[in-house]
Amino acid sequence: MEKFDVGVVGSGYVGLVTGASLAQLGHRVTCIDKDVRLVAKLGEGQIPFYEPGLEELMAKNADRLRFTTELTSVACKADVIFIAVDTPQGEDGAADLSNVAAVARSLGQILSDANRERPLVVVNKSTVPVGSGDYVSMLIQDGLQEAGGGEAGFVVVSNPEFLREGSAVYDSLFPDRIVVGSDSREALDTLRTLYEPIIEQSFSTELDPRPKVAVPFVSTDLVSAEMIKYAANAFLATKVSFINEIANLSELVGADVSEVAYGIGLDERIGSRFLSAGLGWGGSCFPKDVAALKAVAREYEHETPLLDAAVAVNERQRGQVILKLQRELHTLKGKRIALLGLSFKPNTDDLRGAPSLAIARELDRRGARVVCYDPVAGRKTAAATDFLKVVFDPYEALKEAHAAVIVTEWEEFRELDLKRVASLMHKPPLFVDGRNALDPGEIRAAGIRYRGFGHGDGQNAFDYGKVRTAGLSHTDYQRG
Ligand code: NAD
Repeated sequence: MEKFDVGVVGSGYVGLVTGASLAQLGHRVTCIDKDVRLVAKLGEGQIPFYEPGLEELMAKNADRLRFTTELTSVACKADVIFIAVDTPQGEDGAADLSNVAAVARSLGQILSDANRERPLVVVNKSTVPVGSGDYVSMLIQDGLQEAGGGEAGFVVVSNPEFLREGSAVYDSLFPDRIVVGSDSREALDTLRTLYEPIIEQSFSTELDPRPKVAVPFVSTDLVSAEMIKYAANAFLATKVSFINEIANLSELVGADVSEVAYGIGLDERIGSRFLSAGLGWGGSCFPKDVAALKAVAREYEHETPLLDAAVAVNERQRGQVILKLQRELHTLKGKRIALLGLSFKPNTDDLRGAPSLAIARELDRRGARVVCYDPVAGRKTAAATDFLKVVFDPYEALKEAHAAVIVTEWEEFRELDLKRVASLMHKPPLFVDGRNALDPGEIRAAGIRYRGFGHGDGQNAFDYGKVRTAGLSHTDYQRG
């Protein structure tokens, strides 16, 4: 198999996982970042965020994985450069491309000096609006000209990333598909060769037995590849908002949304994943990507009523927690509320777009005392906020609490000693399950009131045995 020299610009969640995975395939990888402290830490084998399996993968491939702040020497000899820098949401909702633009311009300047045999393949892995591939080409060309021109060729490819934080290493090595978009056949072939061990599932791994025989390689044009990424995230966000709409209606008519989701999810056209009612979607991708897609539509004066509704339903879900607490506790002033879970989903410490902070802020504004616990994101939260009391033991958070809110469905919360919880909490204790993650029957059996999302009169207990009979794991059923 051909081995490549690869540079990955941006050493965050996506850049590091991409770099470590490509090193695992045998490629020689250098991860570049402008953050000097980050690069120093990475050089010592430390990762500044929580991602299961990543540290081990990096350590295992340390001889093929380097870190630097200096792009020039890497770009001069690389076969392929990935751009994996952050593309945050700008003020008008559109993606802020300034980091991508800075890298593209620098690459142009570097290429003007480079003595290369083959054109550099520049791969856009950052999530960027439709048309950004051409924009990046233009900026590389600008950079080239600013630096006096040159003969070196380059070609821009779109290779959107679909990894999920919390299972990023797994998603990177066993993806559902690899999407690559370019107008150049040679560039598409280069990417196919680069990813061949993943496509054919022929790389060595301790994660055997492999879940997949082969991975579909979708090669398409630049613009379609960029659109695939936005369409995928917008669809998933809409699916969650759809079940939340049904959940709110279920509460009114007395149906149980967990039963409804189970019943519709068994239809293969619908699928069981991302049918979990609750607080809605968050994180570093869905909110900003849906906003960016809406911004793209605005540029064409095109209306997006479906996306608008998906966003509106999601915003309403956050407020539902406050309403549920008010309904049970009557007033929030002077009440102690335990928030269980801070990260936007389990198995990550990422707080970007997490509903926890918005809910905590609102409870604080209404005079409640908020105490938070998260298995991994506690320290990060304590450092980032000044209005929250963060503790490092779930029972300490629950002590004397009038209510507990499950904000993130960490597995640990399903294993709480409920008798102990009931004895610690203010009487009568209340659980508001923002993720429908707990077994209502078990909570009630411990003498704790339970309020989930979309559970009719609040008395229905979803039959978890039914999920097991259908061969689905609880996680499959709930969260995808
Ligand atoms: P991140 O914030 O974790 O990492 C980005 C890194 O890029 C930072 O370390 C930053 O210092 C570095 N950077 C920025 N400008 C730079 C420059 N000019 N030169 C060198 N380094 C630079 O971001 P992330 O979560 O890894 O996301 C990266 C991209 O991937 C975004 O476009 C995001 O939308 C997309 N994406 C993210 C995920 C995810 O789950 N995090 C999943 C799929 C796609």
